[in-house]
Amino acid sequence: MFSKKVVYVGDVPIGGKHPVVVQTMLWRPLADREGNLRDLIDAVNAGADIVRVSFPSPDDFEHLKWLVNHSPVPIVADIHYDPRQVILAVEAGVHKIRWNPGTIAVKRVKDALKLIAEKKLPIRLGYNMASLPRERIKAGEDVKEAILRIAREDVDMLNDVGVEDIVISIKSSTPNETIDLNKSLSQWFNGPIHIGVTEAGTLLDGTIKSSYALGYLLREGIGDTIRVSLSAEPWQEVKVAWKILCASIGQCRGLTIVSCPKCARSTGPVWEIAQKIEDKYAHIRKHITVAVMGCAVNGPGEAREADVGIAFGGPGEAVLFKKGKVYRTFHFDSDTDIMKIITTEIDKILEEEV
Ligand code: SF4
Repeated sequence: MFSKKVVYVGDVPIGGKHPVVVQTMLWRPLADREGNLRDLIDAVNAGADIVRVSFPSPDDFEHLKWLVNHSPVPIVADIHYDPRQVILAVEAGVHKIRWNPGTIAVKRVKDALKLIAEKKLPIRLGYNMASLPRERIKAGEDVKEAILRIAREDVDMLNDVGVEDIVISIKSSTPNETIDLNKSLSQWFNGPIHIGVTEAGTLLDGTIKSSYALGYLLREGIGDTIRVSLSAEPWQEVKVAWKILCASIGQCRGLTIVSCPKCARSTGPVWEIAQKIEDKYAHIRKHITVAVMGCAVNGPGEAREADVGIAFGGPGEAVLFKKGKVYRTFHFDSDTDIMKIITTEIDKILEEEV
């Protein structure tokens, strides 16, 4: 979205004016072919554009090839330690290589890089503050400055061997460090930047750290592709990524719920209905905003960005509103009655042509 140069991973463009690309990563051993494919499809259904997988051993070659052949989206091979794995990954047909210069020294990887150049494959230089190329940091050098200097040197080296399609990520497990590093990187690197907070934590902790750091960077115009790293399923990472994109730069997908916390004015089951709607429409692609508000006094006005919403009135009574304007009042005896009214309206919107 924000870089000057566009890099294609398979048929997915990263950078330039293109939408920010959502990535996730599989976690099962490659030998678990069906398990990985199931996770991959779940992630794609949640909105993943590209999926990455570790490729740790030559024994996984046939499994990687199988995954590439069965995947509906481009596959990125994540390579550490052994540069021969890069060559095998290219042979398996992957669409991009993620190379960590902290775990494979530059001089050991040159042959593999020449092959990448020949095949015109993109590469991500994926730096991680937890696995720095320590031997390249000069005595007394600031670590953050060192990693930026090393990234520049590696880009020059890749260009020298003919690799032009380069994406860079510099990740830290600290949100503020992630922000600082990527701001510095964006000042000189014209290619796409992959942003993420590494080892961010569990669903709640990781979502908060990632939302803060990635939302900040995206709002500043930094970040062409994102991965939210969570100790959770890949499809959950993808869901969170979309929520961050929607909240920070308005790149939305699926359902956005606007619901109030309730207060003494509330007269209805706000939390329960909001949750039921979220569960029922968890898999939609079209972006729609639905509101569930506790009172008709403030509800429709406070949720005026919602395509459709309900606000509770007196006991057993609620109003249906669209874009902040009250549409009609209805009576209900149960949650089922409420769900019937609101889902009829949501389904109508979903059926409309985009
Ligand atoms: S919308 Fe009404 S019920 Fe909900 S928090 Fe605001 S004032 Fe309270």
